Amino acid sequence: MTKITDSIKYLKGVGEKRALCYNKLGVDSIYSLLQFFPRAYMDFSETKDICECDVGEICCFKAKVFRKQGEQRIRKGLSIFKVFVTDGTQDVIITIFNSKYIFDSLEIGQEYSFYGKMQGSPLRKEMHTPSFINIDKECPVKAIYRLTEGLSNKVVSNAVKQALDLWGDNLEDVLPDYIKQQEKLCHIRYAIENIHFPESTNALEISRKRLIFQELLVLQLGLLLLKKTSREGTTIKINGCNMKEFTSKLPFELTRDQKIAINDGLKDFISGVPMNRLVQGDVGSGKTMVACALSFAMQRNGYQSAVMAPTEILAIQHYNTFKSILENMDIKCELLVGSLTAKQKREVKEKIASREVDIVIGTHALIQDSVEFNNLGLVITDEQHRFGVNQRAKLAQKGKNPHKLVMSATPIPRTLALIIYGDLDVSVIKTVPKGRLPIETYMIDSKKRDRAFNFIKKHIDNGNQAYIVCPLIEENEEIDQGLFSVEDYAKKLKGSILSEYRIGVLHGKMKPNEKEKIMVAFKNREIDILVATTVVEVGVDVPNAVIMMIENAERFGLSQLHQLRGRVGRGDLQSYCILVSDNKSEVTVQRLKIMTKSSDGFYISEQDLKQRGPGDFFGERQHGLPVLKIANMVDDMNVLLKTQKLASEIIKDDPYLQNDENKGLKLLVDELFANKAE
Ligand code: ADP
Ligand code: MG
Repeated sequence: MTKITDSIKYLKGVGEKRALCYNKLGVDSIYSLLQFFPRAYMDFSETKDICECDVGEICCFKAKVFRKQGEQRIRKGLSIFKVFVTDGTQDVIITIFNSKYIFDSLEIGQEYSFYGKMQGSPLRKEMHTPSFINIDKECPVKAIYRLTEGLSNKVVSNAVKQALDLWGDNLEDVLPDYIKQQEKLCHIRYAIENIHFPESTNALEISRKRLIFQELLVLQLGLLLLKKTSREGTTIKINGCNMKEFTSKLPFELTRDQKIAINDGLKDFISGVPMNRLVQGDVGSGKTMVACALSFAMQRNGYQSAVMAPTEILAIQHYNTFKSILENMDIKCELLVGSLTAKQKREVKEKIASREVDIVIGTHALIQDSVEFNNLGLVITDEQHRFGVNQRAKLAQKGKNPHKLVMSATPIPRTLALIIYGDLDVSVIKTVPKGRLPIETYMIDSKKRDRAFNFIKKHIDNGNQAYIVCPLIEENEEIDQGLFSVEDYAKKLKGSILSEYRIGVLHGKMKPNEKEKIMVAFKNREIDILVATTVVEVGVDVPNAVIMMIENAERFGLSQLHQLRGRVGRGDLQSYCILVSDNKSEVTVQRLKIMTKSSDGFYISEQDLKQRGPGDFFGERQHGLPVLKIANMVDDMNVLLKTQKLASEIIKDDPYLQNDENKGLKLLVDELFANKAE
């Protein structure tokens, strides 16, 4: 007897060869075929009058067959059949290639809904092999599947039908009854049947609701289980720390959220379980201080800390910050980056191994095998989305179950963060340091560029500095599309009213030490205008810079624009962001308008998510999350929140999902997380 878990090849019409095609789609068993949900639906009920359908348009209309014209052999292997239909507003000639079967299924006098691309001419409309349904007999909503070579929609649909007819009764409902009642969810059998062959649009909605809920619940359960198991105890434990000593020496008062984040971390240190915490805060919110405070606490308890940043500029900046604050508290900081000489590197590594260093700040150089710590208690990664999961793990392996802190300025909505970072706790910094004025943002086109230059001139004359960001490094073929390159732009400035000022250029192709030289010069006010690519995006801190002008602003995502804008407004001076774009498309204008209206990174990233989808966040699957079949974390956010709550209640009562009523859910968790590596 074939079982539901058996290979799909046992279905009639599948066989070895087609089974391979299905495998490409991730379908191997009969069960997984039933879980192969349609990617979209054709709705035959949304019809238009034929006279309203334009040639070239994909459309759907209702019409009656009034004449049929039998087989015409065009050449060997090609026959056509014609069926003439009308809806009273106009006629359409339906052309069918090579299929007497389809031709025969269309009956004179019967009404059908046709769906396809209108062809021919406005006065003589045609449609070639459209999809159609018999209005009196069939449901108006038809599934469309993801396909691969060797599989047509019809073939897949038939296989699913067969699987449902033969094994539908074997579908077990794993959702406990009380959940189904509470959430008014249908039975799994009904859901699976109607997701593939909806009886009506309403039935489809009911089914989707059930399946989305189930998938997100299973995801949340899985994440909670992961969180549990990744929290073995650690011997790195501190008994608390007097932070007064730290705060009293700071040149400013910590913001409320900085204090909360630091306290969250200290609590983690005391708990006996390794910390796994994400500090998420908008650009300029002061995350570095949190890292600094927690490293201080580690040092006072006899442990080393390691801070890893994605670029050398940033590592050096952090190093300087840490040094300026911690060195007069008798804490030793060292820098480890690629551009040090071999001798310098060796010396730093020796000091790390012998614990002459308390805090080492660096780039990827930190995760080399040759770096050995003496007593590593805390690892911190800044702008952590730039690092792979592996790199983070590698740094942590330098210690014995050390505490882990990651900092991110990508203000992903909290719920999404919880999912992306799975087993992390999150501290959010929303309060901005005292005295910060909101950045004023303007949108202009290139006609107003000269005015913007004047504006910049005025501010430089006042002793301030400006950034100008361009999308490209040097002139190349894309210049035709009107995109600016930093090198070109710098030349252009020399011929403008800004020619008298000191102009610097910064981009990713420069050698690390060249980049550093420029950044240092900019920091020291030896450069007035820094023309740069997005390398200035990450964490660079120059409070005296008050203008951020972004050329070809349409080329950047909202979140990226927001990050760039965050390079200014880092002191107590009024700062400005000028977005330059000649792109007048509605989408672009709307997008850039969001920038002028909001300075809330969380809001902006939500808008970014809405417009561009979660692709950017889930893009390369670098987060190692399971692939969802039907739910969408953004569209289904409400369900996500609901299931999160429910999942924690379930886990509270049954920590390992061993109760009979939850066993089925556990199987689904295992199944979903087994797909992880896909
Ligand atoms: P980010 O969160 O973007 O990494 P930083 O840690 O670089 O932000 O901090 C941005 C700037 O704000 C730095 O110049 C820092 O010294 C300053 N800063 C941090 N915390 C405070 C505070 N509580 N009050 C005033 N300035 C602060
Ligand atoms: Mg930072």
